[in-house]
Parts: sequence; C-alpha cells; structure tokens
Amino acid sequence: MPVPIDNSPPRRRNKAMLTTGKVLLAVANERNFAVPAFNISDYAMFNGIVDISEEKNAPLFIGIHPDEVRHIGVDVIAAMTQRAHRSSVPIAIHWDHGATYQEMLTAIRIGFTSVMIDASMQSFEENIALSRKVADTAHAVGLSVEAELGTIGKTDGEAEDGSDAIIYTDPADAVTFVRETGVDSLAVAIGTYHGIYPKTLKPELKLDLLKEIKDRVRIPLVLHGGSGNPDEEIAQSVKLGINKINISSDIKLAYHMKMREVLADEGLREPLSIQPPCIDAMKAVAGQKIDLFEAAGKASLY
Ligand SMILES: [Zn+2]
Repeated sequence: MPVPIDNSPPRRRNKAMLTTGKVLLAVANERNFAVPAFNISDYAMFNGIVDISEEKNAPLFIGIHPDEVRHIGVDVIAAMTQRAHRSSVPIAIHWDHGATYQEMLTAIRIGFTSVMIDASMQSFEENIALSRKVADTAHAVGLSVEAELGTIGKTDGEAEDGSDAIIYTDPADAVTFVRETGVDSLAVAIGTYHGIYPKTLKPELKLDLLKEIKDRVRIPLVLHGGSGNPDEEIAQSVKLGINKINISSDIKLAYHMKMREVLADEGLREPLSIQPPCIDAMKAVAGQKIDLFEAAGKASLY
C-alpha cells in the first residue's frame, strides 16, 4: 500500500491558520513563551518544519531572508501560504532582515504576512525613520513589523547580516525607538551571533540587559542568532521576555550533516530516497527547539 498523498482540507475551519506576526506574538508575550522562527529556503525542509510544528502543536514563523527568496523564487510563497491555510497550527510567513522599503513592498505583494526591517547598521535616526515608514505602510495593510536595534554579530561568511563586534541594545534608546517607530516587535542585541560559533568564541547572553529592556518596552522581543547558545541561557531568555527566536544554522546543519552521510551510498539518486532521513534529522533538532522555547502545545491558545 503506497503512503497516501496529503490532500486534506483545512483542519480547523473556523480559524485562519495563516496569520500575522502580531497575532502570534501577542499570545507569546502574554503567556511567556517564544515562537520559533525557522529559516527556510527549500520546499522539502519547509514541509518538514510544518510537520514537526503540527506534531508538537506549536505556533510557527517561517522565516525567509531576501537571499533565500532569491534562491527559492517568489512563486513558492503562494504554495507556503496555501499549506499554512490547511495547517492545524497558526503560521506566519515572515520576511527576515528586509533591507529597504521597496523590498518590503515586494514582500507584501507576494504574500508574506509579517515583515522585518533591519536598518540596525544605519544611524539611530536613520533606523527610526526607515522603521517608522515601513511600520506605517505595513500597518495600513494589516501586517506587523519587526525592527532591530543594536547589532547582532556574524561568525562566518555563510551567516546572515551582522558585524564582527556586537553593539548591545541600549535600554533608553529602545524606549525611544519603539515610541517613535510604532513597530510591533523588536530584535535586540544581547550577545548572540548569526551563524555557528567557532570554538574560540564562547556565546554568553547579557540577561540583566534583556530584563532591563523588557521592563521598559514591554512589547515582544526577538532573539536572532539563536543557534549554538547553551540551552540554559535560551531558556532563561524566554522567561525574561524573548517571544520569538530565529533558528537557521542549527536546522540546516542537521539536515546537511545527515545528507553527507546518506550520500555515501552512491546508488542513491532519487530525492525521495535521499531527503526523508535528512528531514527527520532536521525535525529532531527543530523539535528540541520548540520544547526549549516552551512553544509545544501552545497552538491551542490561538
Ligand atoms: Zn537575524
């Protein structure tokens, strides 16, 4: 008996499971957990991430960086939004690290339901001006906006945007920034780097700084560069008010480490023979993150 093709209708007819970042994060902020944002640039990996989120009954951000959109193509976003509509868990399709206003307009047009504008490498004033402009436009069409203040590090050439040295988010600046821009969530720099940490670099989060920022701004806070940090620190950051954690390197590493192993068998050719064990390896890591972020079971709150 072949495995049936999943063509099931939407599982919860009364609820739109494709939703915005604002809806996902309002509940996370109130109930003190973090929604994982897994970066995707491959459709088989996308399906695996949706599957593990449904198995864990966890809300989900699908994060797609502009570079990843260039790789996967804009047309696939429509397929992802359709899958989200059929899901048993709430899903936002999130534009990760948008650089310009024009890019954000493209994201809106092709179906993203949540956008990030990252002008953190510009001056404080320029960051405020661009983030406010993006927030005004996105809010007008019902989307939510994440911005970034301070700069997250970057460990290697494969990592996303970032600088060699972290500039920590200043709590007083964060208050001004949130008030002036009207953004819905804020990515903060408290000691994480994008990418995989080299052995010489020991990740360490400034949890006191996080607590001070959260006490003052109150809105959902976002942690980028969440791969490779000690689980204990991540768990603490969730307790202190981080409501979205971006995971990219860890799941991609799990997928491709397994693929190297699978491809040792030179007789294999079909993606459907090669990819499933790699997807399982990726799902195992994603499942651990969902548990660590206290997101398992939380889809029932929506
Ligand atoms: Zn990031």
